[in-house]
Amino acid sequence: MTGDTTTDTDENPEEFVTLAHGAGGGAMRSLLQDLVVPRFLGNGDGTEAMAASDGDGPAVDVGLPQLDDGAVHPVGEGGALVVTTDSHVVTPRFFPGGDIGRLAVAGTVNDLAVMGATEPTALTCSLVLEEGTPKKDVKRVIESMAATAVEAGTAISTGDTKVMGNGEVDGIVINTAGVAYVDREVTVSDAGLEPGDALIVSGEMGDHGIALLSAREGFDFTGDLESDVAPVNELVRSAMAAGTITAMKDPTRGGLANALNEMAEKADVGIDLDEQSIPLSGATASAGEVLGIDPLAVANEGKVVLGVDPDDAEAVLETIQACSGGETADIVGHATEEHAGRVVVDTGFGRRYLSEPEGEALPRIC
Ligand code: MG
Repeated sequence: MTGDTTTDTDENPEEFVTLAHGAGGGAMRSLLQDLVVPRFLGNGDGTEAMAASDGDGPAVDVGLPQLDDGAVHPVGEGGALVVTTDSHVVTPRFFPGGDIGRLAVAGTVNDLAVMGATEPTALTCSLVLEEGTPKKDVKRVIESMAATAVEAGTAISTGDTKVMGNGEVDGIVINTAGVAYVDREVTVSDAGLEPGDALIVSGEMGDHGIALLSAREGFDFTGDLESDVAPVNELVRSAMAAGTITAMKDPTRGGLANALNEMAEKADVGIDLDEQSIPLSGATASAGEVLGIDPLAVANEGKVVLGVDPDDAEAVLETIQACSGGETADIVGHATEEHAGRVVVDTGFGRRYLSEPEGEALPRIC
C-alpha cells in the first residue's frame, strides 16, 4: 500500500461519496454492499479473504452480510461474543438533553442491547480531536462518557487519541466499540419477525432528531425539546425477561420508518402500523411540522423497537412501561403475511406505505 488517493478524472458524480451514503438508508446499504461487505468476506473483485464467513475465518452467527446492529461470534461451550462499533460526529457537540460523549456510549451500549447483550463487558473510546478544540470541552465530553458508562453498568477500558490540524476534522470525533459475552441462545437479531408478532415501541419517537435540528435552527422557543439519548440496556433486559422477543432494533438514523422497513424486509413479512398508537410528544410533533420533518423518519437515541410473541405482548409492554424511559411505550402494530417487506400505516383516515427515508435530511445527527 502506498498512501495514494485514487482520483477519478472523468468527475462522474456517481463515483463519489455523498452525504446520502451516511444516512443509514438505501444509499448507505448499496455503498456497503458494493464496496465493503464482499471484500471483507473475500469474494469480491479478486480481493484476498480477510475474514471468511465459513472455512478458516471466525465462526459467525450474525456477521457482515446481515448488516445488523452488531456481530455475534459463538465461543466456548454455548457462549457468544457480541461486538459492535460506531463513530460519532454529531454537531453541536453539546445539545439539549445530551452531548457527543453520552451519545457515543449510549449508541454502542444500545447496539449491543438490541442484539440481546444487555451487560456490556467493556467499551473502547477512540478520540479524533481538532487542533484548537478547548480542553474544557474535551473534559466535559469525557466526564459525560464516564457517567453514561456507569449508568449502563459498564466501563471504558481501552482507547486511542489522535489530533488533526485545524480544519482537517471538525472538533471532536469519537469512535466507540463494545463487547459483551452472552449465552449463545439469548442473542436476538433484527431479522426474526414472524407473522402475528406484536411490535412494541419503547417511547416517544423522533425526539433526538427534532431536538437537534431545532437547536441548530434556533427553533426551540419553549425549551421543551430534548434529545432522548440514554442507554436502553436495562429496559431491554427487563423486556427479555418478561417474554419472547423475536426481533429488536434501535431506531437511530432514519428513525422508526427505517427500522421497521429493515425489519420487514429482512424477515420477509409485512408490518401493519396504527399511527394513533405511536408515542409522540406534543413538542416534537409541532416542531416537526414547523421544520417539515417527519418525527417517524429521524433518529432516536434512547429507544427500542421490539417484535414480541403475541402471547407475551401485554406482559412485555407492562414490564417496559414500568422501566425508566419506557413509561409511554405502546403496541404500535403487528407483523403480517400480507405486503411482505413493506410497512403500511393506518392513519385513521386511510392506509399508506411508510417508506424508508431517502437522501439526507439531517447530516451529523449522531
Ligand atoms: Mg443500531
